[in-house]
Amino acid sequence: MMQSVAADRGALVIVSSPSGAGKTTLTRRLLREFPQLEFSVSYTTRPQRTGEVNGRDYWFVTPEVFHEMVERREFAEHALVHKNLYGTAQAPIETALSAGRDVIFDVDWQGGEALSERWPRDSLKIFILPPDLASLEKRLRQRATDAPEVIETRLRKAREELEHFGEYQHLIVNDDIDRAYDLMRSIYLTRRYGVVDRPDVSYPLADLAKRVDANRDSDAHARKLVGR
Ligand code: 5GP
Repeated sequence: MMQSVAADRGALVIVSSPSGAGKTTLTRRLLREFPQLEFSVSYTTRPQRTGEVNGRDYWFVTPEVFHEMVERREFAEHALVHKNLYGTAQAPIETALSAGRDVIFDVDWQGGEALSERWPRDSLKIFILPPDLASLEKRLRQRATDAPEVIETRLRKAREELEHFGEYQHLIVNDDIDRAYDLMRSIYLTRRYGVVDRPDVSYPLADLAKRVDANRDSDAHARKLVGR
């Protein structure tokens, strides 16, 4: 039976992971495939890296500007991550959600917690796991843009971030980028279109749901990574 799908309100797709687990690559790919998705451009006080574009990757601001925004209550959440401030502006989220547009967030566990507490029904939380700790470390060390002490801090923060996998509805092990992406889009599409079949949507949704289900062993993987 055909059913109209309740897509009148958008969703918050919250993606977290330790840095170096491939979150940015996966998020970018989802954005490229689904133009109805909007990326939430965060504000940050950290220095801009080569290749980053102001207004696309982040809004790069001074600590003064950041603190003014905090005082004016312009952030839906803000947090200190590796000694820099990061914040998600509130106004664009509400506008997008009420217009039925989905917003994707690349935030740490603190941001994920704050956003999902604020929008509990609208949040879809996805956590990306590295295949193992050694490969995570290797990827972090390959990021030549950061100084060695910054890399050490990032490693520590990566382990801390991993501890929070249990707060996410979906875990994706990024052992293979195409497989990981396939799962991510399945999770997103299942949320967006539900489990009803729609002739205008060319994705076999039951199949997608099965693939999401097949990802269950990722929980055991996560527990092994954090030594639980
Ligand atoms: P990076 O500096 O490597 O771009 O990001 C460092 C960490 O900060 C990542 O885990 C990223 O997800 C997180 N992050 C980016 N924007 C925000 C934000 O607006 N709020 C929070 N809480 N974390 C953020």
